[in-house]
Amino acid sequence: MKRVIDAPSSSLLVIGGGLAGMYAALSARKAGVPDVTLLSKGRAGGSGNSVVAMSVHRFAPDAPGLREEYRLRFRASSAGIQDPEIADFFVEHAAGAMEALKSCDLPLHYRTLPEGAGQYDYLACCDPKQGRILTQALRSRIDADSGIRVLDGVTACDFLVEHNRIAGVLALCGEEFQVFPANAVVLACGGAGNIYAATSNTSDLTGDGYCMAARCGLPLRDMEFVQFYPYRIYAPRRADIFPDIFEHGAVFRNARGIRFMDTPQYPKKELENRDVVARAMFREEGVHLDLTGCSMEYLERECPNIARMHRDFPDQPLLVRPVAHFFMGGIPLRQDCSTDLAGLYVCGEVTGGLHGANRLAGSALTETVLFGGIAGREAARFAASPAPACSAQAVARVMDDYPVSGTDDLTGLKRRLRQVMWEHVSVIRTRSGLEQALQELASIQAEFSACHPADWKAWLQLRNLLFTAEAVARAALQRPESLGAHYRIN
Ligand SMILES: Cc1cc2nc3c(=O)[nH]c(=O)nc-3n(C[C@H](O)[C@H](O)[C@H](O)COP(=O)(O)OP(=O)(O)OC[C@H]3O[C@@H](n4cnc5c(N)ncnc54)[C@H](O)[C@@H]3O)c2cc1C
Repeated sequence: MKRVIDAPSSSLLVIGGGLAGMYAALSARKAGVPDVTLLSKGRAGGSGNSVVAMSVHRFAPDAPGLREEYRLRFRASSAGIQDPEIADFFVEHAAGAMEALKSCDLPLHYRTLPEGAGQYDYLACCDPKQGRILTQALRSRIDADSGIRVLDGVTACDFLVEHNRIAGVLALCGEEFQVFPANAVVLACGGAGNIYAATSNTSDLTGDGYCMAARCGLPLRDMEFVQFYPYRIYAPRRADIFPDIFEHGAVFRNARGIRFMDTPQYPKKELENRDVVARAMFREEGVHLDLTGCSMEYLERECPNIARMHRDFPDQPLLVRPVAHFFMGGIPLRQDCSTDLAGLYVCGEVTGGLHGANRLAGSALTETVLFGGIAGREAARFAASPAPACSAQAVARVMDDYPVSGTDDLTGLKRRLRQVMWEHVSVIRTRSGLEQALQELASIQAEFSACHPADWKAWLQLRNLLFTAEAVARAALQRPESLGAHYRIN
């Protein structure tokens, strides 16, 4: 039995220091929870996709005609896969949640364009469009609240369950396991882009929430739907492209200089849906961003990072490729963010059901605002009733399959997993490729099961990556048709 230390108990434990987790913590405090503990694998406010996001929050305007128009677009992008009730709830309440944020004095600028301006009519973003401006502001608020204890660098490993309700969380602090008892828990630990060799995600996103939920019997949904983002420069420096740039003269070209999106098949050209552009790029060699038709004045104002790269490397092509970006699937989302495990609430990218087969641009950050707030409030109500104590048996149950530590380095297995997923389970999928991927994952799993890890963090990471990779590959194999971001050619 590994040595496990008891940490002080909390009314509410939040897992994840991205926007969803931080909003949940602040909203729980507002709802009267006396003490919140926030565990974050990376530094809260400095980790997760919220930090690297472009900070673009889009939402349905508070006007009947425009709201209906947004609802139809939101539904259409899901290809019939999303939970219609949760989708309608989001469309109805997102503007209110964003409006409520205005009074919080956060560095968000709201832009309201004239009615009829089309899909960009309502949005809020930071200036410049960098997620970290918002995450840092929220972290400062959290630091100013003496009722929130933040533990940076702590990795949640498993939920501890007593009498069918949550009683706490087992977490890794350095090389030590600790039990964090809590009356209620909010899980907001983001997605799993790192199952792929090419991703826009930060390195801490390894599917931990999906694995933790499944290990205590909770279902997952829509795991085959992973969004691949076509707007990422990977050389000479990494940068995300704000898609509006294509309305201002930028174009994609292949290695032969051909603008391959300029055909009747793609009436919206580079601004086709993300999945369509990603597939077109995936089939080409040497895709690069050509800025010849774009004014420097626009670039400096709206995309200063790209303007800088253009100046620093005037003779080099800005090479672009699609990368794994967003998980539409996850733990089924409900309007009150509850789950089938009493006392466990979920919000943010770890959830599934809101976006279905594809996500509409700008909706993920708005989602963290609306559902982060709800998860915090609902968990606050549940946290008023004390949880049973975490027993040694509950800890032993989850640590049952943790191996004895040793000297094994897991870097090679992780690299193999990410490569297999990129080759066979990414933008374009085939039956034989998916079967091959599952075979290869089984062989990685067998080696993993026999290992004695030198580093517990790396072991947990690979456990969660393997679980998530298999869930995605299996779901993709079970869906023979192409839908949204899931594309099968046989
Ligand atoms: C490059 C990029 C640009 C984007 N731009 C936009 C945009 O402009 N608009 C938009 O709507 N969406 C955008 N998105 C998507 C959006 O950023 C994310 O969906 C959203 O930020 C997710 O927020 P979250 O709080 O759920 O998770 P994250 O922000 O990813 O945070 C997860 C947190 O959980 C922690 N964590 C993970 N595992 C554990 C564990 N086991 N124990 C403890 N802590 C853990 C992490 O360290 C991190 O702090 C973008 C995504 C990327 C990658």
